Amino acid sequence: MTEEMEKDRLKREFKRLFESMDFVCDNYLNKEGVPRKEQKRFADIYQQLGQVWEFLALQCKHWDGHKKTREKKEVCRICGTVKGVEETHILLPAKGPKKIGKAVSPNSVNTFPTKKEAWIIKDSIRFHGALMDVDVHNSYKSNLFKEHEINIAAERNVTLKERGVECTIGKHRIDLDLEKPKRRGSKPPYGNFAFELRKKDLKHFPVIFKFDDDFRFLGLTILVRS
Ligand SMILES: [Zn+2]
Repeated sequence: MTEEMEKDRLKREFKRLFESMDFVCDNYLNKEGVPRKEQKRFADIYQQLGQVWEFLALQCKHWDGHKKTREKKEVCRICGTVKGVEETHILLPAKGPKKIGKAVSPNSVNTFPTKKEAWIIKDSIRFHGALMDVDVHNSYKSNLFKEHEINIAAERNVTLKERGVECTIGKHRIDLDLEKPKRRGSKPPYGNFAFELRKKDLKHFPVIFKFDDDFRFLGLTILVRS
């Protein structure tokens, strides 16, 4: 369906929906002499139509822009939702690529007193069994190590977890963890550059380095025992 057809379809749907809502309002909710029981039933129906409105509005891309209402709010000319109001749901197509949000990065040079104030986004999605987590924050002060207050650098970290493997892509480092420490307080793993290790020790690691003619590091492959 083209964008234009989609817009026309939605416009028709909204027209019908708003007519139904007006009908319920005029004939049952705002009318004298309607029995209480019946009025309550139609109040429920009105609420349910309101949910349909929310669902349809998620599909609206506000193609025709916004107009000012008497209450000085800007509402979409098609779906009637107020501009800038945070949406509580996200609608994704079942087929084809899905898109949620856009890439955000740290946006301040300041160090904030708390993590909460430095927070920009922390969101996650479980996608066909894989877990992805996006954590973006500005710099903040942390007293994680009791008396010593340290500055946590501004960072955008994206983590993918799949079958116990965790890959975190940050601004200055990419971490790949095949196993997490089994219990809290256990000894942290050793860490060395490859050139610091002896050849016989290196042989324990099923890692293949990828590089070009100039020995520019292009990535690596880890062979996993199944
Ligand atoms: Zn709209």
